[in-house]
Amino acid sequence: MRYISTRGAAPSLGFDEVLLTGLASDGGLYLPQSWPQFDAETLRDLRDLPYAELAIRIMSPFVKGSSFEKEFPDLVRAAYAGFNHPAVTPLVQLDSHLWLLELFHGPTFAFKDVALQLLGRLLNSALQTRKERATVIGATSGDTGSAAIEACRDRDSLDVFILYPHGRVSDVQRRQMTTVASANIHVLAIDGTFDDCQDLVKALFNDEEFRRMAQPTAVNSINWARIMAQIVYYFAAALALGAPDKPVSFSVPTGNFGNVFAAYAARRMGLPIERLIIGSNSNDVLPRFFEHGTLSATEVVPTLSPSMDIQVSSNFERFLFDLWEQNGTALADAMTEFKRGQRLSVAANAAALARNQFLAFGFNDQQTVEQIRKWYKNTGILLDPHSAIAVAAATKAQTKTPCIALATAHPAKFPAAIKQAIDFTPSLPHGLAEIMTKPERFTRLAGQLDIVRAHILKHLSQPVDKKRMAV
Ligand SMILES: *Cc1c(COP(=O)(O)O)cnc(C)c1O
Repeated sequence: MRYISTRGAAPSLGFDEVLLTGLASDGGLYLPQSWPQFDAETLRDLRDLPYAELAIRIMSPFVKGSSFEKEFPDLVRAAYAGFNHPAVTPLVQLDSHLWLLELFHGPTFAFKDVALQLLGRLLNSALQTRKERATVIGATSGDTGSAAIEACRDRDSLDVFILYPHGRVSDVQRRQMTTVASANIHVLAIDGTFDDCQDLVKALFNDEEFRRMAQPTAVNSINWARIMAQIVYYFAAALALGAPDKPVSFSVPTGNFGNVFAAYAARRMGLPIERLIIGSNSNDVLPRFFEHGTLSATEVVPTLSPSMDIQVSSNFERFLFDLWEQNGTALADAMTEFKRGQRLSVAANAAALARNQFLAFGFNDQQTVEQIRKWYKNTGILLDPHSAIAVAAATKAQTKTPCIALATAHPAKFPAAIKQAIDFTPSLPHGLAEIMTKPERFTRLAGQLDIVRAHILKHLSQPVDKKRMAV
């Protein structure tokens, strides 16, 4: 499989290069040149496979011709063996027509694990084949950092440096990062805000000399391999509810548009999906786009669903590529214009096409809390604020088919929102409770580029000594 950039000017690449590159050299995002197709008969054959075996079948066309062809099945099996539910992404029935797809059974109790557990293994393997090392560097406002750490810990070819704003993440979020006792993991508490951390990371990636010495790589949501891994659970859930003979709909709590783009990809690959529903919080850029045909970003408003506090969804460009009829040059012009004015309008026919593909609804914090309260009262099931928005959007869409709402985090990760809704805090699941007493390990640094840069270069390891790692 070859991959092309949404902006048309970067060279097409194979899977290995796309995995290691992230952003294309023309500023675009990589997409497969064509979508693998699964017809109804093939889908029926896939119905009873365990999750990992289904994942291998769905993803194989994407890695065809790469250095992974042979070991890919083992990497996939290893990635999902660590999930704490045998179905990996189990379905739970909420109402006669409404289902919950629980994506939080990975090591950090949030859906980022589903993609990152595989991505960490793929990266490490690609680097080993090339006899190279890389440094994963990321800024986190809470959840992505721990998922990246769990995905990359103890992998010989990777050093990991995660920057978070000191004093501005929750106790659980901090401990999920600082209690990982692996020699290749470095957690940096930066004096500053999340934006400061992100600026530091950007500056490091733009520093030629640093790039040469550290080979920085990002595991953020624009990496194609993350989308690829997320396509699988749409197939798994739809097959479990009778696809391809019965179509289903999905409702996805959306931030960077990675998760819902994976659903769109599944549909392009032949999975019969009736409605694709986007749930947003008060940062409702996407619902406004689907209503008016204009993308217009404003200031980010902090909400109870912080992983969706995003105004410019980085993966949206992958969908715009289709709306621009795959004309990368024209899309590049449009994206440049958007960057300048934070505004982008599409023609009326394109807006109608977009509305054909997605429904989108926004919900504020009060509505989110009401949803959590309502479903707890009616079913005893506790939704985290992100999942509550997916359920609210599913209800509002009134689909004719069964609707599957994606539950992207365990409720215990958001105790403050739950307390607002039902006046008590959920108990921590096994695995989160135990980190509350483990020793923490992190380095506090001033938010200055030269200090952070020097710290990282000083702590880069040579290939990690296995005995030293067994802490
Ligand atoms: C990342 C995240 C989202 C948003 O997913 P996108 O792929 O960015 O749209 C939703 N909920 C939770 C809990 C998340 O961590």
